Amino acid sequence: ALTIGFVGLPNVGKSTLFNALTRQTVLAANYPFATIDPNVGIVNLPDERLDQLAGIFGSQKILPATVSFVDIAGIVKGASEGEGLGNQFLANIREAEAIAQVVRAFEDSDVVHVDGAVNPSSDMETINTELILADLQTVEKAVPRIEKEVKGKKREKAELDALLEAQAVLERGDTIFSAADKLDMENLRELNLLTAKPFIYVFNSDDAILADKDKQAELAALVAPAQAVFLDAKLEADLVELSEEEAREMLEMNGQDESGLDQLARVGFETLGLQTYLTAGPKEARAWTIRKGATAPEAAGVIHTDFQRGFIKAEIVSFDDLVAAGSMADAKAAGKVRMEGKDYIMQDGDVVEFRFNV
Ligand code: GDP
Repeated sequence: ALTIGFVGLPNVGKSTLFNALTRQTVLAANYPFATIDPNVGIVNLPDERLDQLAGIFGSQKILPATVSFVDIAGIVKGASEGEGLGNQFLANIREAEAIAQVVRAFEDSDVVHVDGAVNPSSDMETINTELILADLQTVEKAVPRIEKEVKGKKREKAELDALLEAQAVLERGDTIFSAADKLDMENLRELNLLTAKPFIYVFNSDDAILADKDKQAELAALVAPAQAVFLDAKLEADLVELSEEEAREMLEMNGQDESGLDQLARVGFETLGLQTYLTAGPKEARAWTIRKGATAPEAAGVIHTDFQRGFIKAEIVSFDDLVAAGSMADAKAAGKVRMEGKDYIMQDGDVVEFRFNV
């Protein structure tokens, strides 16, 4: 599944943030048949376009796309040595598609920091070092096996070379992801390396940092090109207990235009390389999740595999054109509705109706 795994040192606010996520999952129980795993938090991807679509089509329901997060136990120095929690921990991260590192940036003398002081960059280094060491072990274990298979002509030499290059990157203390453009990622895929996954950095911040754009820019620069999200886990936990209107007021008071969970959903979705397309009718206005670059039949397959198999064409209008026209009929009259075939690459904001054979 396309999930994002939370990692972080102990006491950085992971549980607090994750509880807020799961609480929102329960509130947004739009998917009554989905079994809710306590370790998985599913949040809606905020999308104002759906409200507008529902207005145009008189839709009764709005179904946004979702992003899933999975809670992974706290990482500690030595986790890569695989003692106790270590192994299970690593197995859990391996299953996630991307990794969200929760980093403590809040000051609070009542909350002990494992290393004695709040220091985001040293915390990130601790975590990254553990992940890099874990990958190095994986690679070192694989090398002799692959060497043998290359000798026995069961593997291409290129596969071994890819491994050795990855090993050099890790030995330098770099993540695989940071060197992805220089590495043979195709031949590394099978190892499912932890540092090959895209990272997001979630800075659990206090008021001072939330109000300090310069400090945020400084922290964001430390992790670029990975994306940074700044939120206050305690505030997020409070927000999910409030009504929508109260929550909005509270955010405004804190100078935020969007909740941290919403921000996290957006950044997570992007980091996973996903996009949405939209459908609308009297029953529901809905966003569907596809990979960036998906073709029209692939997009149809997300609704139902029969739609993909029997795909004929897609009737598509861009969201902006539809809103400008005011209705589907007016958009058609204005020549803004296109018929697209099986090679069409879906674009963000496509409002779609599929034609298919059953
Ligand atoms: P975890 O070990 O990473 O899961 O951390 P927890 O979520 O259990 O949080 C550790 C402690 O820090 C708890 O006492 C939380 O109430 C507190 N805490 C979490 N987030 C924040 C925050 O944003 N600000 C402050 N001041 N305390 C927080």
